[in-house]
Amino acid sequence: MNKQPLYLDAASTTPVAPEAIAAMLCYLGSSGCYYNPSSTNHLPGQEAAASVDTFRTAIATAIGCEPEEVVFTSGATEANNLALRGIAHTHASQGKHIITSLIEHKSVLETCRSLEREGFTLTYLRPDSGGTINPDAVKNALRPDTLLVSLLHTNNETGVIQPVGEIASLLADAGVLFHVDAAQAVGKLPLNLSETPIDLLSLSAHKFHGPKGVGCLVIRNRRHLRLEPLLTGGGQEFGLRSGTLATHQIAGMSVALQLATKHQAQDHSHVSTLNRLFIEQLEQNFAIKIHGDRERSSPYIVNFSIYGISSDALINQLATEVALSSGSACASGTVDPSYVLRAMGIEGDALYGAVRASFSRYHTMADISLAVERIVAAVRRMQELD
Ligand code: PMP
Repeated sequence: MNKQPLYLDAASTTPVAPEAIAAMLCYLGSSGCYYNPSSTNHLPGQEAAASVDTFRTAIATAIGCEPEEVVFTSGATEANNLALRGIAHTHASQGKHIITSLIEHKSVLETCRSLEREGFTLTYLRPDSGGTINPDAVKNALRPDTLLVSLLHTNNETGVIQPVGEIASLLADAGVLFHVDAAQAVGKLPLNLSETPIDLLSLSAHKFHGPKGVGCLVIRNRRHLRLEPLLTGGGQEFGLRSGTLATHQIAGMSVALQLATKHQAQDHSHVSTLNRLFIEQLEQNFAIKIHGDRERSSPYIVNFSIYGISSDALINQLATEVALSSGSACASGTVDPSYVLRAMGIEGDALYGAVRASFSRYHTMADISLAVERIVAAVRRMQELD
């Protein structure tokens, strides 16, 4: 994977696994099963529908839920919108209070802002300085009219893993719905819905070597939990998401997730080694500050600042050599520093110097050493210019 520039931004997106590409190709061309899975009045349509069923079942098995609880969407952004708006609009009579946090992905935060404009009341929890939402803070924020709590599993900027198991149990006891945005966790970290009482879970295929433009919202006990759809039309996906199903995308997502599940322990250990190597090699050259509690972090993401170096200048200096992210990809392109790090109380040089590196199963130790070599050379050039 020794391309120019070296891509260390796997939290933004990953390459599609060859196995997933092979599966997708079977659903595209005239010799393949390109049929519409809703056209079940003929054999070709039935064949496509049977394939979708198989892929749905494999996804459900990987995350520990029932196949009919998996609702395909265009990705985690849509799944988050469907969860929040769908629950809020259907169950407003039971309460108009929603709890979330200041460190959510924009697809949750902006949706919450929009619900506020519609008359819902939001509580935005602040993480501790290590980037964790304390379960007690969730408990203390509960009110008699709390309808839903929405928190992410693994933060996309810091990699900090939230105590979702503990929060899920306390919310189950309190009888409050729990939505988890697991875009950065599914396929990478152990997560089994049969063991954790999460009501709604969002995921996105392109974060685990599946294609872009597909994901799903898992709705536990879907037969009993009603949600207003975002899209109406032909009534696909149990009436929750109209539109012709993208069979090739679903094939790619399902195969990628099966692969990620099978190799999860191995990938986790490989990426942990890469993460350690990256940090050790940087520390041999500079004083760095790592943001987010390392004890609670996913090895797939590291967020750090190099003393005295601004992230924008470093990223520009490395433009043709190493692709890193300052903050989340959705926020880059603007000069705003990370709202996630700000919420953790990080300010000044550490905030403006924060850079995210993120890894995948396809990175090698040689990639990491070369990336660090290039980062070190870039920093030395910048220091000489000062
Ligand atoms: N939530 C989190 C935590 C993410 O990291 C992302 C991707 N940046 C999303 C949601 C949005 O996912 P998608 O690209 O599938 O819309």
